[in-house]
Amino acid sequence: MPSNGGRDMAILNVDGVDCYYGAVKVLENVRFSVKERDFVGVLGPNGSGKTTLLRSISRALKPHRGVILLNDLDIYTLRSVEVARQMAVVPQETTIGFNFTALDIVLMGRNPHLSRFQAESEKDLAIARSAMERTSTWHLAERPVNELSGGERQRIIIARALAQEPKVLLLDEPTVHLDINNQLEIMDLLRELQSREGLIILAVLHDFNLAARYCDSAILLKDGKIVSAGSVDAVLTSENIKNVFQVEAIVKRHPLTNSLYIIPISTPKPPLSRNLSVHLICGAGTGTTLMKILVDEGYNVTAGVLNVLDTDYETAQLLKIPVASDAPFSPITEETHRANLEMVSRASAVVVTAVPFAHGNLRNLEAATEALKRGIPTFVIEDIPVERRDYTRGEAKKRLMELKGKGATFVRNQHALLAILNVSEDKLKMARALRTEIPGHLRPETNSHEGGVANDIESHVGG
Ligand code: ADP
Repeated sequence: MPSNGGRDMAILNVDGVDCYYGAVKVLENVRFSVKERDFVGVLGPNGSGKTTLLRSISRALKPHRGVILLNDLDIYTLRSVEVARQMAVVPQETTIGFNFTALDIVLMGRNPHLSRFQAESEKDLAIARSAMERTSTWHLAERPVNELSGGERQRIIIARALAQEPKVLLLDEPTVHLDINNQLEIMDLLRELQSREGLIILAVLHDFNLAARYCDSAILLKDGKIVSAGSVDAVLTSENIKNVFQVEAIVKRHPLTNSLYIIPISTPKPPLSRNLSVHLICGAGTGTTLMKILVDEGYNVTAGVLNVLDTDYETAQLLKIPVASDAPFSPITEETHRANLEMVSRASAVVVTAVPFAHGNLRNLEAATEALKRGIPTFVIEDIPVERRDYTRGEAKKRLMELKGKGATFVRNQHALLAILNVSEDKLKMARALRTEIPGHLRPETNSHEGGVANDIESHVGG
């Protein structure tokens, strides 16, 4: 964990570092230490000094003040090959001029271990092969690297770094050009390397949720200074995010998985207006992303019935969404139910998210029935099978099936719903990405359907 104190057992110590480009200071008094088997996320806005920090740690930019110690040795007093035997870098952009094969590239990782004119030995080949096997790239060994996909090329560059046999791996935005599946694959790989091989990993990341899910600790930079360093929980607070990025964010710990998730909330600029309203029947965070996207897209959004303190209730408050609400943990009262029906009657569409149902909120499905009676298009999102969130001994499932019989449209996920509501391409991408991060904590791993929109629309209740 990065800490400002004690160097005991720390492998990497960054101590009071100032860095300049010309006369401009871009890092000031940066101080932290990292122990074995730590996965550290380096976060901060563009221009805050993240890349510069990696450059100075990798011996590419000498600090004007302070020291960087690797196993108690000042890296700037060591020869570059000595550092490269212990520390490997995966840069943000890797341009490969010639059409080397993947294996050629990985073998380059052996250079720090070879003398000037020495050719690679069988042992070097075995180490390169092992690095490629660990990154699942050995089958690509003979392929020209410029013909590989972004995700494959990134794994090759990581294999090259592993072939250096480092103790410390520095990565600058390792997932930046990758789609969500490849992002998760690379992050899973890094975590495996950290836990299985005890590597220290220091990665510049842009995505809070990736950092929260994979890193043990984090460093938050602003204007070249550390604002916060320590465990992910201590660093990724809504106060810190607001201070550094000027955005409101909801930071929650999921009660079942115990992992942190972060939902940045901002208001649209300039606001769109569609003159259409959508009423959400949601709860437990299953409506949060939809609220944000629909508001950004100019829909008038209402929600209910929600309990005060529910994540979706908090999001609604932040986004100034009208809500029919009840006291925490209390069942829906007659009065609130009526307020909810009132909102339903004014809606152009009603959406039931994959919310957990207990007897306390079952009445919300009566509101959906009422919407159908009034001819209001009603959608049911079923990205979590109802059996996994039905705490009413099947009553919720039965009522959801009745909704289907009455004409509700079942959609596989919020991405499909947003496509139907004609939400812009950018927001659809965001929904697809966020789907794996936020309500995903509730989603079973096996339910990662990634088909096209047409396939997303389903006409039956899952199971
Ligand atoms: P980040 O990685 O957080 O986006 P950088 O470390 O790349 O930030 O940049 C920190 C600051 O240093 C920025 O103001 C940037 O413009 C400046 N900077 C980065 N690289 C150079 C360079 N080679 N020469 C001069 N200024 C630079």
